[in-house]
Amino acid sequence: MPDTQNLIARRAQLLGPNVSTFYEDPVHMVRGDGVWVWDADGRQYLDCYNNVPHVGHCHPKVVEAISRQAAALNTHTRYLHEGILHYVEALTATFAEPLNTAIMTCTGSEANDIALRMAQAVTGKTGVIATDHTYHGNTMAVSQLSCTNPPPNRWDNVAFVPAPDSYRRPEGETHALAFAAEVEKSIADLAERGHGLSALIICPYFANEGFPALETGFLKPAIDAVRKAGGLIIADEVQPGFGRLGTDFWGHQKAGFVPDVVTLGKPMANGHPVGGVVTSLDIMTAFRTNFRYFNTFGGNPVSAAAALTTLNVVQDEGLMENARVVGDYARDGLRQLARRHDCIGDVRGSGLFFGAEMVLDKDTKAPATAFTKRVANVMRQKGVLLNFLGINYNALKIRPPMPFSRENADMMLERLDEALTETPLEP
Ligand code: PMP
Repeated sequence: MPDTQNLIARRAQLLGPNVSTFYEDPVHMVRGDGVWVWDADGRQYLDCYNNVPHVGHCHPKVVEAISRQAAALNTHTRYLHEGILHYVEALTATFAEPLNTAIMTCTGSEANDIALRMAQAVTGKTGVIATDHTYHGNTMAVSQLSCTNPPPNRWDNVAFVPAPDSYRRPEGETHALAFAAEVEKSIADLAERGHGLSALIICPYFANEGFPALETGFLKPAIDAVRKAGGLIIADEVQPGFGRLGTDFWGHQKAGFVPDVVTLGKPMANGHPVGGVVTSLDIMTAFRTNFRYFNTFGGNPVSAAAALTTLNVVQDEGLMENARVVGDYARDGLRQLARRHDCIGDVRGSGLFFGAEMVLDKDTKAPATAFTKRVANVMRQKGVLLNFLGINYNALKIRPPMPFSRENADMMLERLDEALTETPLEP
């Protein structure tokens, strides 16, 4: 059996069915360096998708920090250690007041789980509002927030609002007010169901929803409605955070609001499993008083060293500015492709988190869902890794490690030009 087929079979046998993998022909990666990865046959791929190795695969400074701390001490988090304090100081310095305290976790799911409990502790209520096309993680409570992959026996404390769609819905104030009206409807629903409102949880960039192009302040009417009803705003920054959007360090800063609780994950320690929750001292105190919380691994000395070094590298190597400049350049390139390829209906995004929505027809904007999937698979065969998501799963998602260069963007665009030429635009 070829290597790939063998690994797929062993995965199914050892890990069970339905373990998610990317691409019809999954990549068997064995090595990474910067924006590049190599498979077991030595083939090189340009990584245009991975936000986990945020500062680049195997960044030498992060590797060195992990090794050095692992060789000195790693233990659970009930001893005094300066590592977590150094990190939380550096992390909270990137937020506006009053977001000045943090809990370190191992995953984004845990972070969101804590955020929900913080909202419960502050409000005494259990109702949560989320969008109908989001993903916030995999714990029992947090999986309730997924509409796209609903858990059996869904709890009834979650109300869903339609995800904004900048390509198909009215722009500007009308869109923002329509979104807020849906939030208000959900607030009333949750009151009727006896839960009341604890929080609106939202990715400020609507990453899983297909990163619609929304003006700064879009969320203000919805946020005002939530606050008026006594609820908290939880910003899930697992995807847009740490400078990826190019213009601002955090998605909520770009969106123009200060949340009550911020949750973090994926890129936080360049692949070492670190997540976190940032909030005000008041909310943290309410949480710590209501819930006894302990996390064996969250913020341990090695995790703190990995996270601090990752943050330092983002800042020292000017990676947010790189994201802005290269992102703008790549989007220009995509717009040029759109002149020649009718399938590209919309080009959008910010910094190094961008893409193009694929349509069968520019007038009807009919989503080219199957086509987009085929294009992602063709790109993989051409040695460029990207993927697709969005409300209709027809938005190419390009979100490479932050040292991505103009030359890398050129290569991605050239291959995409070929892939769009070779792939028939069929439903
Ligand atoms: N929130 C968002 C927006 C995510 O995209 C994800 C992971 N895809 C999570 C939370 C969960 O993070 P983790 O897998 O680290 O638990």
